[in-house]
Amino acid sequence: MAGGMLAASLAEQSLQIVLLDAAPAPQYPQGESALRVSALTETSESLLQRAQVWPLMPVARMQPYEQMEVRDGDGTGEVHFSAADANASHLGTLVENDAVVAALYQRCLSLTRVQWRNDCRVSAIARADDGWRIALSDGEVLKTRLLVGADGARSMVRSAAGLQAQSRDTGHVAIVATLTTELPHQRCARQAFLDSGPVALLPLYGDGHSCSLVWSLWPERAQQLMQLPGDGFARELTKATQSWLGEISLASERLAFPIHDLHAGNYVADGVALIGDAAHVVHPLAGQGINLGLLDAAVLAEEICRALAAGRQWHSLPLLQRYQRRRRGHNAMVVSAMRGFKVLFEQRSPVLRFVRNAGMSMVDRHHIFKGLLARQALGRFDDAPLG
Ligand SMILES: Cc1cc2nc3c(=O)[nH]c(=O)nc-3n(C[C@H](O)[C@H](O)[C@H](O)COP(=O)(O)OP(=O)(O)OC[C@H]3O[C@@H](n4cnc5c(N)ncnc54)[C@H](O)[C@@H]3O)c2cc1C
Repeated sequence: MAGGMLAASLAEQSLQIVLLDAAPAPQYPQGESALRVSALTETSESLLQRAQVWPLMPVARMQPYEQMEVRDGDGTGEVHFSAADANASHLGTLVENDAVVAALYQRCLSLTRVQWRNDCRVSAIARADDGWRIALSDGEVLKTRLLVGADGARSMVRSAAGLQAQSRDTGHVAIVATLTTELPHQRCARQAFLDSGPVALLPLYGDGHSCSLVWSLWPERAQQLMQLPGDGFARELTKATQSWLGEISLASERLAFPIHDLHAGNYVADGVALIGDAAHVVHPLAGQGINLGLLDAAVLAEEICRALAAGRQWHSLPLLQRYQRRRRGHNAMVVSAMRGFKVLFEQRSPVLRFVRNAGMSMVDRHHIFKGLLARQALGRFDDAPLG
């Protein structure tokens, strides 16, 4: 997604862009909802609009949501806020990752200067006199002056460029699945902080009773739950969420992912830049991962466009450093905030729990705090690309 976004954002420029992806050619999802979904913020929506990608997204498989509800596991703290708190029409949109990639792909297919090559694995990367040499697994070798690593958490580009990243096991495993709920989701994204970790019920398109589950748990508990038959798992989830959406049943298989977070100390070096999960991986409890990645892509594209317009070198180190300055601080704040949230909600001390839950209830009573939360959910911040 991050790589496709960069290519689409540079559409109007005179650059030749080659996007190398080991995955097969993207296709719009069909049939049952895919398990990997993302909550795209308002900012991501406008970036995708500006890159002429949003109109290519499959509206029938997208679910805008107007409300968010966050609860403490024992039900004593609760915050509810809505798009209206920030004068917006919706807080975000739930969409399958495959739909986003397929829309980016369609946009790139229409651009003569972008070549999106699939089933194409990079096997080696080395510095050359004037940039980088990239060897593909079929033996072909490419040269480039600017190499952008949008190759995910285990980025080969990051290693080849010698960019160090600090990775931490969050101590959580995330279980994802599609659910059918007895009560309608009412276009509300819900999250409860249980003793074992956060559980999110995210509204999906359809008849209003379909949700995507992201349940982050300690590994032992995740393993127990994965071993249960589907109906036993659904009963445990209904109980854990205190029947928030009534009886829950499983509408898909379950997948479990160990969650490591990661942040690169530097995103750039001479002739190379990292974007998306190659630069940072955040705990999914914030639903921010790809939103940050799309912003990285848009900001890097903006810096390159400015340099081209001014006749400056478009791949120089100072330009790349400007990109890093605009993005790394913001991403670092989100990585740290997610680490802090996890610690805060794991507290067993009754005093700390009281203070935390009293804080949630206080926020829930004050419009100004709710407006701030809604702005965060929308992804509004001061250094977004200008357009
Ligand atoms: C359970 C879960 C729930 C999540 N929910 C949300 C959410 O609600 N909202 C949100 O914003 N984020 C969410 N995220 C995070 C989000 O999924 C990631 O941030 C996002 O997928 C990262 O996108 P990316 O394009 O940076 O990298 P990736 O999606 O990892 O893409 C990397 C690409 O590089 C290619 N590649 C890698 N190595 C090579 C190679 N050697 N040669 C060629 N190609 C290569 C791969 O084929 C792939 O296409 C969630 C994550 C998890 C685990």
